[in-house]
Amino acid sequence: MKTKAQTSVFHRDLVNTPKMVSHADGVHVWDADGNQYLDASSGGNVVISIGYGVEKVIDAMTEQARKVSFCGAFTSEPQEALAQQLAEFAPNGLDKVRFVSGGSEANETAIKLARHYHVESGNSEKYKIVGRWRSYHGNTLGALSATGHVLRRKNYLPMLLPFPHAAPPYQYRCQFCSERSSCTLQCADDVERLILNEGPESVAAFIAEPIVGAAAMGMVADPKYFSRVREICDKYDVLLIVDEVLSGMGRTGANFAIEHWNTRPDIITCGKGISSGYTPLGAVITTNEIHDAVRIGSGAFEHGFTYGGNPLSCAVGSAVLTYIQDNKLVENAATVGSYLQERVAQEIGGLDIVGEVSGKGMLCGIEIVADRETKEPFSPEIAIATRIARRTQELGVLINPSFSGNVDGYRGDRFGICPPLTFTREQVDETVDALGRAVREVREQVR
Ligand code: PLP
Repeated sequence: MKTKAQTSVFHRDLVNTPKMVSHADGVHVWDADGNQYLDASSGGNVVISIGYGVEKVIDAMTEQARKVSFCGAFTSEPQEALAQQLAEFAPNGLDKVRFVSGGSEANETAIKLARHYHVESGNSEKYKIVGRWRSYHGNTLGALSATGHVLRRKNYLPMLLPFPHAAPPYQYRCQFCSERSSCTLQCADDVERLILNEGPESVAAFIAEPIVGAAAMGMVADPKYFSRVREICDKYDVLLIVDEVLSGMGRTGANFAIEHWNTRPDIITCGKGISSGYTPLGAVITTNEIHDAVRIGSGAFEHGFTYGGNPLSCAVGSAVLTYIQDNKLVENAATVGSYLQERVAQEIGGLDIVGEVSGKGMLCGIEIVADRETKEPFSPEIAIATRIARRTQELGVLINPSFSGNVDGYRGDRFGICPPLTFTREQVDETVDALGRAVREVREQVR
């Protein structure tokens, strides 16, 4: 007989086990000790888009559970309805939807779909995926191969596919242009350099987050970046996959963040906010052209996961998207999100340890530095971003710690403020007050 002390969850952080959640409502969460938090992190992982405990979603979920939760032998009304809704929500030309259970599965699917499309089109040598440094596409091995988050790749390097990575469009620490105002788009041209280096006949797709999440929270590319990337992709018959797992479903004040660049991708991947955390759900949205290449070709995309398109998650996704649209939450993310970006910049942007505040809508990133002139980061042992997030939490507000460290030349500490799309100006004020206090207190401790 095993004792309780022997058995436990194998948590990610085995030193600091997480607090126990008790319950949540709207934009508030309570831990098991009875402490209340304002959730400006969307559940810690930028998932909660419409807030907790929305009755309409719970009703849709229970109603569907009573009808049928799973039947992989058939399609279902919720799956067909959500595909329709998502295709309408997506940019023109992106009309076909494949469902999965989360972001890694969505990117894994996109990578394989890109390869499959080229095989069906008679270009069977094309298989490589060009990614970028300072990106995160998921922890499964294919998605991790495309990922450029050095810390998350480190232990698995021998197992990863040798996909090349382009320079990130990291305006604050640009390796090409020293001044923000003089972006020369060499980071976009780096994608072309890599394609030529690898041989265009071997490259299937380029994948990028329109606005970066975990690997560099709130990193925004120059306004001309994605149109240049699109030109490069077209020139070499390389598909453009945009990973909107974190930035999509309205978070940045547009349905999908790529719309800020007015560029049409070939494949969009979704996760997180698509179900607002009520059930696991992800999706891959693509063009009729890619769909037709498979339909008219072999007739089958030999790839899928057991729970992809399950009626329960699709009923939730459908209720969540309806709620986003009925309550004009994309518009709210744009207006209250601009207020969030302004308020964070006003409150802490002038402090000598704040390097940059960047992002769009409800996706705001902050980079902390030891020296604003040289942009020298703090020593990684200080883990300053994590300390700030912990102190903000003690003050009753949850934010997103993301990258603390100094790894393989990718240096710096960033964290995010990514609240649910329902956040009000008053809630932004409350968040910014706690953040300002936490940043000042931690600054005193490390100076
Ligand atoms: N892509 C992006 C941009 C993400 O932020 C994440 C998760 O943080 C993923 C993919 C992986 O998603 P999941 O953890 O649902 O597999």
